[in-house]
Amino acid sequence: MLFGAIETGGSKVICAVGTGPHDIRDRVRIPTTMPAETLAEVNDFLLRHHRETPLSAVGVGSFGPLDLQDDSPTYGYVLDTPKPGWPNTDLLGPIQQALDLPVALDTDVNAAALGEHRWGAGVGLDSLVYITVGTGIGGGAVVASRPVHGASHPEMGHVRIPHDRESDPFEGFCPYHGDCFEGLAAGPAIELRWGIPGESLPEDHPAWALEAEYLAAGIANIVLVLSPQRIVVGGGVMEQRHLFPMIRERVVELLHGYGVTEKIVNALDDYVVPPALGDDSGIAGAFGLAEMALTASGEAT
Ligand code: ZN
Repeated sequence: MLFGAIETGGSKVICAVGTGPHDIRDRVRIPTTMPAETLAEVNDFLLRHHRETPLSAVGVGSFGPLDLQDDSPTYGYVLDTPKPGWPNTDLLGPIQQALDLPVALDTDVNAAALGEHRWGAGVGLDSLVYITVGTGIGGGAVVASRPVHGASHPEMGHVRIPHDRESDPFEGFCPYHGDCFEGLAAGPAIELRWGIPGESLPEDHPAWALEAEYLAAGIANIVLVLSPQRIVVGGGVMEQRHLFPMIRERVVELLHGYGVTEKIVNALDDYVVPPALGDDSGIAGAFGLAEMALTASGEAT
């Protein structure tokens, strides 16, 4: 059974066709330009394969925010994104119209959480959170093996964390909240605060202790809200692997014995982990979404 899997990012769209993430038959990378042009290329890719060997369903993981309420007139739309040209774009409709197949849409980070849950660091667990720390911070969650959303979808990157303005006068760069989690700890915050991009800072630079402090604070909040069985932390900033032990240690200190079990504290190296699928968590999750779309369509008929 063949599925289409699409991962829509701010700068590129990954399109794949296969039976799953370990059997990808074709994969292309399309630059994210204006919506009409980009979505036409996505549809060309899917249709070309669908005509050759029919696809069973398509899964799409996308940057957001997204309208994921299925009774909403703008269901499947990208909402008020800062990305030029993309606010109020119907993402799902053109794919559904072109292919007439079950299509499921979720956020890029919920897709990544699903991908890691099904095929990566979360195999065998019921719940997992995936956080990306890159040009922004986003978080997705899988609970009882399904991506979590409700009135909207989780926006874990915008939770509030303690900010001592004396030791860190940087105001934060989030256009909505200033010094929220993303505003203080995403990649651009490091560069704006220190005047040097993170990848050029040495491991002993004080930037990293502060970064670990903020990441640990955000992660501690997530632990207290969702109590996931594992937290996967990916994204460009996390290429700095030395952050992991610093974050783990500080999460435990911040929780101060509350909210995490002895079992987790004793196995912390297995609790806050890098993605097992590397850069492919999102596209794997899009395959997972396609499977879920197919299952849901079977239940509906
Ligand atoms: Zn924010």
